[in-house]
Amino acid sequence: MVMVNEGELSRFEVEVEGWAARDDSGILSPINFTRRKTGSNDVTFKVAYCGICHSDLHQIRNEWKNSMYPMVPGHEIVGLVTEVGSEVKKFAVGDRVGVGCMVWSCQQCDSCSEGQEQYCDKTVLTYNAINADGSPTFGGYSSLMVCNQRFVVKIPETLPFDAEAPLLCAGITVYSPMKYLQMTEPGKSLGVVGLGGLGHMAVKLGKAFGLRVTVISTSPKKEKEAREVLGADHFIISKDQKQMQDAAKSLDYIIDTVSADHPIQPLISLLKVQGKLVLVGLPENPIYFHPAAVISGRRFVGGSSIGGVKETQEMLDFCAEHNISCMIENIPIDYVNTAMERLGKGDVKYRFVINVAESYSSPTAN
Ligand code: NAP
Ligand code: ZN
Repeated sequence: MVMVNEGELSRFEVEVEGWAARDDSGILSPINFTRRKTGSNDVTFKVAYCGICHSDLHQIRNEWKNSMYPMVPGHEIVGLVTEVGSEVKKFAVGDRVGVGCMVWSCQQCDSCSEGQEQYCDKTVLTYNAINADGSPTFGGYSSLMVCNQRFVVKIPETLPFDAEAPLLCAGITVYSPMKYLQMTEPGKSLGVVGLGGLGHMAVKLGKAFGLRVTVISTSPKKEKEAREVLGADHFIISKDQKQMQDAAKSLDYIIDTVSADHPIQPLISLLKVQGKLVLVGLPENPIYFHPAAVISGRRFVGGSSIGGVKETQEMLDFCAEHNISCMIENIPIDYVNTAMERLGKGDVKYRFVINVAESYSSPTAN
C-alpha cells in the first residue's frame, strides 16, 4: 500500500471532481484533484458514465497488494468530447468516446506493434498507476478525463450510452481471448464460469458467435434469467457434484470469470479432449490443479488480460452490429459505497454503472 504525495493532486491546471478511496477500507468519498490541460495529442471529455468492475473493488481494498491512495477508480469510461489537441484528427468535440483500462504504453515493443498494448511492460493503467511525468493516474469515477488519442475509442451511437460503458473492460476481457484462442467456431460449446459483469458478456458474445453456452454458477437463482434473457442453453450449479459429473467432458471452451478463490480442477474436467480453459478472473490467491487433469485429455489452461485498443474498437463495432450491450443498474455516484458492498456479495445484475454526468451539477469540462 502506497500513499501518493498530496501535492500531486493540485499539480495541473484543470480542476476535476471525483470519488476516491483513501485506504484499504475501500470506502470512497468526494475528492478534488487536477488533470493536465489538453495536450496536442489529447482528447478531453466530460465523463457521462463509468462502470464498476470487480477489479475496482479488489483494488480499493488492496486485495492485489499494489494499491496507491488516494485512488479514484474506474476503467469503463464513456463521455462526450469537450476539446481535442491540435494533432487529433480522428475525434471531434461532441463525439461519443471511451477509455478502458489503459492510458499509455511504450508504442515500440512487439506487443504495442501488434496492437496488444495490454502486454507492454510499460503500460500505464487508467488508475492506480503512475504516468510518465510521475503523476498518479485517476480513473473515471470523476467528472473529466484527459487521455492521449491513442487510447481513446469511438463509442457506437446506436446502443444505450450507459450500457456501453462496461464493454470497455467486461466486454473486451472476454471478447479478446475468444478471438485470439479461436473459441468462436459456431456450434461448439462454451462454458462461462461466474455470471457477473464479465460472465454475462461472455454469454451474450458466445451466443452472437453461434456457440452453445453453459453457465457454471454458484447461484441457482440466476438460472431463469440466464436462460430466458441472456440466452444460455444450459445452467450448471458448480457445487452440485452430480450436475458437474453429468457434464464431464462436454465443453470445447471455458472462460472462468470468478472473482474469488475457487477450485479449478472440477472445471478442467468439464473440458473435452483438447478443450481450452481461459482464466480471466483474478482472485486473491494462486490456483492449483494436478498435471494429470490437463495431460489426460491434452487440455489447455491459459489466461488473458483485457484487450488491445484496436481490438476494443473492433469489439465495440461487433456489439453495435449485433445489438449487444450490458445489463446494468444505473446509479448516482453517492450510491457507490453501497454498490461496492452489493458487488462483493454478487448482488448486481450484472454491472453497476455510475451516472457521472448527472452526479455533478456544475460541469468542470471547460
Ligand atoms: P463480478 O461481477 O463480481 O462477477 C464475478 C462472479 O463470480 C460472481 O457474479 C459469481 O457468479 C462468481 N463468484 C463470486 N464468488 C464466487 C466464489 N466464491 N466461488 C465461485 N464463484 C464465485 O466480477 P467481474 O467484474 O465480472 O470480474 C470478475 C473477475 O475478473 C474479477 O476478479 C476481476 O478483477 C477480473 N477481471 C479480470 C480482467 C482481465 O483482464 N483478466 C479484466 C476485468 C476483470 P455466480 O453467482 O454465477 O457464481
Ligand atoms: Zn475491469
